[in-house]
Amino acid sequence: MQCGTRATSVKVGSASATKKVAGSRKAVVMCPGLYQGNHQRVSVSSRGGVLSSWASGGRREVGVRAVIQDGAKLDRPLRVAIIGGGPAGACAAEECAKNGCETYMIERKMDNCKPCGGAIPLCMIDEFDLPPEIIDRQVNRMKMISPSNREVDIGSTLKPNEYIGMTRREVLDDYLRQRAEKYGTNVINGLFMGMEQKEGEKGPWTLSINNYGEGATSKGDKAREKMELEVDVVVGADGATSRVAKIIDAGDYDYAIAYQERIRIDQERMKFYENLAEMYVGDDVSPDFYGWVFPKYDHVGVGTGTVINKPAIKQYQDAIRDRAGDKITGGKIIKIEAHPIPEHPRPKRIEGRVALVGDAAGYVTKCSGEGIYFAAKSGRMCGEAIAQRSNQGQRMIGERDLRVYLNKWDRKYWPTYKVLDILQKVFYRSNAAREAFVEMCQSEYVQRMTFDSYLYKTVVPGNPINDIKLLFGTIASILRANALRVTNGPSVTFGERKEA
Ligand SMILES: Cc1cc2nc3c(=O)[nH]c(=O)nc-3n(C[C@H](O)[C@H](O)[C@H](O)COP(=O)(O)OP(=O)(O)OC[C@H]3O[C@@H](n4cnc5c(N)ncnc54)[C@H](O)[C@@H]3O)c2cc1C
Repeated sequence: MQCGTRATSVKVGSASATKKVAGSRKAVVMCPGLYQGNHQRVSVSSRGGVLSSWASGGRREVGVRAVIQDGAKLDRPLRVAIIGGGPAGACAAEECAKNGCETYMIERKMDNCKPCGGAIPLCMIDEFDLPPEIIDRQVNRMKMISPSNREVDIGSTLKPNEYIGMTRREVLDDYLRQRAEKYGTNVINGLFMGMEQKEGEKGPWTLSINNYGEGATSKGDKAREKMELEVDVVVGADGATSRVAKIIDAGDYDYAIAYQERIRIDQERMKFYENLAEMYVGDDVSPDFYGWVFPKYDHVGVGTGTVINKPAIKQYQDAIRDRAGDKITGGKIIKIEAHPIPEHPRPKRIEGRVALVGDAAGYVTKCSGEGIYFAAKSGRMCGEAIAQRSNQGQRMIGERDLRVYLNKWDRKYWPTYKVLDILQKVFYRSNAAREAFVEMCQSEYVQRMTFDSYLYKTVVPGNPINDIKLLFGTIASILRANALRVTNGPSVTFGERKEA
């Protein structure tokens, strides 16, 4: 039987256990079958040796020894399991692993190609040290297209070295996962099934995993084996349908359903989209979001999303294809994908020694639907808090320590989420308001402010005179739009800010 990981291969036989991992940590890996009758637990060291292995015929041998109070000094490294190996999970794992924690990352699909537009802001490339080959295309031109097909070109304010990065998620995620592994993360290719605290809230978490085995790229590649893993802290980075969130009863969020077709178009048409992305607004393509054509490696991603009328998503998709018209005519659909996008943070994001990050926590911005950067950033911030508060993995942490990440996150990003929520409510409420929105995008000042805050994720200090002009311009656009037509806006809510 093999209870192994890509980095950690633990073979448990009747009397022997071996492990082949570089590093300097020790782990406790349990094989659940061995609890029944045989009751065997195997402790292994990342140095390559077996620390202990025992079998007992009686009760399980965890007991009070396993209960450790917050802040207590540990005689072994803090054990952290990260569920999910997307940007949030990989970045959390990297941070924990390089800072003294014994880190596990459980990912069900190593070749996962997350349904996604793949657009990332420029600052992510530097901040997360991404190599140029991760970026398929550098987009420095955008077209905003209004309901009446009025086009506004955006991008003239960009400097020559400024662009939006277009990535393929299978490439980006694989890179981030491999880097986390290089720093010492034990990567387990398996499906996280559940977890429990057998010794109460200060005891360890025992995770149940269907282990697909080393080298498996997707489920079914290899026979599943069940394994258990005992850890101190759990980070839920398992996306919008998070199982970890359900287990800690984190509460629901409103969500959009986003739909995307990857369409291969001929070279001439592809040339048109070489460094250009298009955003279409109108109640034909979405009642509360936008439709997009994003250039990818050798094709375009064409998609849309909605919160308020999910059953009509295919009708909106037909409309976005129609609006793109001749520019994608004759293209071959090579992949169809759909996935939920969270609309606001969950009511609870931390419970005891469990924290949620990325989509599992609900960190996608309204209006733009952007989540990759926020996933990576929240994963990193959470990993940093775990590492710092545990004194590089030397002391037990608790809920108060994990809240350091949450407080920092909310302080830094709450205003961004709030502003984008308001913008969505104001400008996506009717076709008339959308026309006004596109008109406003003609302003160089609006373009610079929008791009700067997207590309660099900082609140850009404005020019007071231009701000006043913008305010009057906005009011005028909205009044003009409302004079044309007013409809009831979508009942999209940001969700109340609650203490997690
Ligand atoms: C159609 C669409 C287009 C989008 N376009 C963009 C865009 O252009 N730019 C942008 O910034 N954002 C975009 N987003 C949002 C973005 O995709 C997400 O915000 C981002 O992927 C969140 O990253 P994450 O790591 O939190 O979660 P995910 O990327 O969802 O990763 C979760 C990982 O956990 C794994 N997992 C889940 N459950 C388990 C389990 N039980 N056991 C083991 N592993 C598990 C999954 O396999 C997955 O690899 C888009 C979303 C959609 C749906």
